[in-house]
Amino acid sequence: MVVTRFAPSPNGSLHLGHAYSAICAHDIARSRGGRFLLRIEDIDGERSLPEKAAEFREDLAWLGLEWEEVPAQSTRLSSYEEAARGLLRDGLLYPCSCTRKEIAALEPRLGPEGAVYPGTCKGSRLDPSRPAALRLDVDRALAQVGADAGELFWEDEICGTQVADPRPFGDVVLVRKDAPASYHLAATLDDAADGVTLVTRGQDLYAMTHIHRLLQELLGLPVPTWHHHPILLDENGEKLAKRRNSPSLADRRAAGEDGRALAERLRRGEFPAGITLASA
Ligand code: GLU
Repeated sequence: MVVTRFAPSPNGSLHLGHAYSAICAHDIARSRGGRFLLRIEDIDGERSLPEKAAEFREDLAWLGLEWEEVPAQSTRLSSYEEAARGLLRDGLLYPCSCTRKEIAALEPRLGPEGAVYPGTCKGSRLDPSRPAALRLDVDRALAQVGADAGELFWEDEICGTQVADPRPFGDVVLVRKDAPASYHLAATLDDAADGVTLVTRGQDLYAMTHIHRLLQELLGLPVPTWHHHPILLDENGEKLAKRRNSPSLADRRAAGEDGRALAERLRRGEFPAGITLASA
């Protein structure tokens, strides 16, 4: 049975792009007799606003969606800690206390997600008296899973079979200085724990899958299929963003707009003036 999910972070209000994504995940599950899950990704400590989760539920109901809610990330911290302990034991994580500024000063090369960490702290040992993030030693991790270049794959309903290569991202953070997991570790573990079979999310997160596939191999997790849908763009061709000027779903709701009618228009590909769907 197909299980999809919508996994918003409660650090701002939802906008049309989120509505499109949630509708996509919801409709796929409904049309295939599956389940649609809501997971609140509140790993972000002080940037997570507890009142936003309630707002998100109201937004989804207003759009006419039905969902099953699974536990929020803040209730799963021990599962992240356990996974990180295992990776640490296997010598696959190393502590890094570098600040963003220090990394920028090293003039790192640019990877798919910005600056690539040059590995300065590789080989250093955990010092409990110094706050540090834990980074994945990607070369060791690939050796551990026995995957040579070009041997890890994922199936994407939109893009077809993809070769996963996490190396261009460098040694990504799996445990943050301020949280027991980064997005990569938390989302990968959660999707497995929630039985998600189809990870439905925007094309803007496509590149993350290179890393998530490696984590699944390392942690012995089931491998889902992905559906990276095209994302909505504003009049400047930029992704709609919580922090930019796109009106939130909560604002539209408060203004008396009909959410179900809006959802129907989004399904038909009819977007408000200035908003377009990126070509995949
Ligand atoms: N929490 C992420 C976000 O709000 C979504 C993560 C995902 O779908 O994998 O951007």
